[in-house]
Amino acid sequence: MGIGIESSCDETSIALVEAGKKLLSLKIYSQIENHAPYRGVVPELASRSHLEKINLLLEECLIEADVDWKDIAYIAVTTHPGLMGSLMIGAQLARCISLVHSIPIVPVNHLEAHLAVVSLEEEIPSFPWLGVLLSGGNSSIYRYSDWGNLQLIGDTMDDALGEAFDKVSALLDLPYPGGPVVEKEARKFFDRTDKPKGSLFPRLLKESTYDKIEFSFSGLKTAVLYHVRGKPKEDLDIPRICHDFQKTAFELVTRNISKAVKNTGIGTVVCAGGVLANSILREELEMVAKRQDWTLLYPSKKILCTDNGAMIANLGFYLWQKGFTAPLNFKVSPKRSFSQTI
Ligand code: AMP
Ligand code: MG
Repeated sequence: MGIGIESSCDETSIALVEAGKKLLSLKIYSQIENHAPYRGVVPELASRSHLEKINLLLEECLIEADVDWKDIAYIAVTTHPGLMGSLMIGAQLARCISLVHSIPIVPVNHLEAHLAVVSLEEEIPSFPWLGVLLSGGNSSIYRYSDWGNLQLIGDTMDDALGEAFDKVSALLDLPYPGGPVVEKEARKFFDRTDKPKGSLFPRLLKESTYDKIEFSFSGLKTAVLYHVRGKPKEDLDIPRICHDFQKTAFELVTRNISKAVKNTGIGTVVCAGGVLANSILREELEMVAKRQDWTLLYPSKKILCTDNGAMIANLGFYLWQKGFTAPLNFKVSPKRSFSQTI
């Protein structure tokens, strides 16, 4: 079995996973309340909170799973991308455990771990996959050829999708993070009998050339801004705005996935990241996958969509099996693309 340590952003998490399959214990401390007053993650507050919580979570995890150090074969730790100060807290814990108990360290790419976590829940089709990552910091599509082997084939030109949810929520004077509350408001619109026809916002990137796979959400965010600017809150149809915002954004997501399937001929699509907690997006993706006959996978448990140590321990297992271990002086990096050269 292996330990997974996650501290790249605003969740501190430790997990124990057996053979990349069985989740023995998972502890997560979410810092949302620390950052909510600022409507975004404050790096210094994040590092301090990781430092305060991480040892406690490790202890709780070990007690819950009732395991002995001698049973632990590897320590998987997020090394990139993320906030430097935060990554260093997890890295230092991994170094300590490794030094004291002589257990090898497996450096893990946080973004790959988000995609790989589906293997914890079900039997997975063989590689290659298309990996679609929709989170607070990413809207990207990867060709995922093997454990530790991904190439970026589509990316955002500006905002990430989760970030757009957070900004739209702020424009509507709704809480942070925006995703869950925007989804809840959009649901209210679904239940109406007197729905107005048409969308408040234009279709995204409708002129984009066939082969290019790109996301852009800043125009949609600006369209929401122009729609609400100068209007008193009581004059705004918040459920309709949330619904039309989501619908417009999700249409670009499904269009880009369909393009990627067509361009690459890869029929297995793995979706992950915080935005996948959105049930309306899940339903939309299910519908398109069925219609266009590709295999769709995403973490069924919403807790596995947001940042967690289980995904780190899970991918760590496959990387450890392939011999991807690192010495104690391994590095961490804020970069998405980074390989250990020490
Ligand atoms: P992550 O970056 O993977 O930790 O995910 C956090 C991002 O996911 C934030 O930007 C949230 O607003 C977004 N998010 C969380 N839940 C939902 C949801 N139900 N719908 C849309 N976005 C969501
Ligand atoms: Mg997070």
